[in-house]
Amino acid sequence: MDEALELFSLSGEEILIVMADGEYIGALSRRSLFNAKRYGLKVNLSEIAEEIPSGETFPGLEVLRNPLGAFLVLKETPKSLITLKEGPLLQEGLFKKETVKLKGELKTFAQILCEISSELGVSAYFVGGVVRDLILNRPCFDIDVVITRKVQKFAEKFARALQGEIIKKSLFGTFKIKAGAYIFDIAQMRWEYYEAPARLPRIAPGPLRLDLFRRDFTVNALALCPVTGQIVDFYGGVADIFSQKLRVLHVLSFIDDPTRIFRAARYATRFNLELTKTTLRAIDLALKFETLNLLTPARLRNEFLRIFEEKEPLKAILFLKKHRILKKLFSLDPDETLFKKAFHLAEVAGLGERAEIELVALLLAGSPEEFAKLELSTKKFESYQRQRKSLEEKASWLLDPAIPVSEKVFFLEKFPKELLCASVSFLDEDFLLRCFKHYFKVSPGLSGKDLKRLGLNSGPILGKILKKIRAAKLDGQIKDGEEITFLEKELKNGFPS
Ligand code: ATP
Repeated sequence: MDEALELFSLSGEEILIVMADGEYIGALSRRSLFNAKRYGLKVNLSEIAEEIPSGETFPGLEVLRNPLGAFLVLKETPKSLITLKEGPLLQEGLFKKETVKLKGELKTFAQILCEISSELGVSAYFVGGVVRDLILNRPCFDIDVVITRKVQKFAEKFARALQGEIIKKSLFGTFKIKAGAYIFDIAQMRWEYYEAPARLPRIAPGPLRLDLFRRDFTVNALALCPVTGQIVDFYGGVADIFSQKLRVLHVLSFIDDPTRIFRAARYATRFNLELTKTTLRAIDLALKFETLNLLTPARLRNEFLRIFEEKEPLKAILFLKKHRILKKLFSLDPDETLFKKAFHLAEVAGLGERAEIELVALLLAGSPEEFAKLELSTKKFESYQRQRKSLEEKASWLLDPAIPVSEKVFFLEKFPKELLCASVSFLDEDFLLRCFKHYFKVSPGLSGKDLKRLGLNSGPILGKILKKIRAAKLDGQIKDGEEITFLEKELKNGFPS
């Protein structure tokens, strides 16, 4: 590493090519090497070298492009790479410049952005997910805007123009505006660096290029100029969207901020993206240097909550399993089938996001300490453990066909739904499904008031009567609408004794 750092100083280059035994391994950036050294990571250069995927071709030349920059390679002698700054390449028009035609409300927002920025003498861009979603023709209601200066003034004017309101000001000086169905985040363009792995970044105002470089993946490192509709794409994000690639901006990305791995799980599964070699290398590094365990419980929990906001959270969880992330954080290692069954039950049961977090914790955590990693109390873990034991003790009783359904239902419904879902490893899946779909929803069809109206005296007896009616329904003795006849008959027989 020291030798390479010296080579960087001597050559004045930002990128050097790593080769081993005459084979081309990848490109090493001064920044990644410097940060690896600063964080005290002991790595081989090949571990932090980044791939340079092929891009457009020209007679005799091929342009290799990645977030580190653009390279020209002579085709006949593939080992000789010439690094070029992207500026001249863009000027020469070697890369296609994408433009987007803004429509509907977004067009109105763009016009307002233009007016306010010229009034204040600043530049404004749409950035991040909204640009990606525009290219993909997907609706987007969370819109990020970066501007060069005067953020507060800009946010105030923008909120007023949209008849919205500023609902939050963040630690990083960004403003959240709510206007109808839309949420805007207005921020000053900035660059950032990390003092240590998994910490929150230090920030400073910076140019658009660096503001985009601090982002998680190339597909999100895009800006859109509201004046021209032109996409600003320094890092090949447009090509990655079209070729469905999930590429980090640099190989230490997940060491800087391990929450990005969870973001990767969401994007890869939501957009069906393939991880590039550098992204896979970035995961290996985060695992090797234990950065995941440096995340605070609040941050980790937040990432899981965001996963549960996805349409198909199970896919994202299985992504984390496949890439060994879950195993690094938790000691239980459920197989795919168990995850599938538990998540299917959770869907049928209609668990909310909070209960889903507890379900995941129940499936993964083998100790109170692991449970606490998701900001859940260790006491709760112990209470779940006790309840789980009672369920386990009754597992064979629950399977016994001679036991009336009502007894089983009365027993099971005392337990939290998330625990029942997690217990599908030892409880009958079909019976649980029937409970969530039907049995738990069966009602006596009459209320205490109804019983009083029928001449019964109030008291705990009413509860017992209602339970008996419900049991009769669960056991198929009566159907909806037959409650009163059943009650009258039973009362004649001295019910309840
Ligand atoms: P989603 O569709 O999931 O809401 P989004 O792209 O809008 O995706 P946000 O979480 O709203 O995601 O973040 C907005 C933008 O900020 C992202 O597009 C990304 O460029 C950047 N960003 C957010 N979190 C991170 C992070 N942890 N590291 C780097 N960049 C981030």
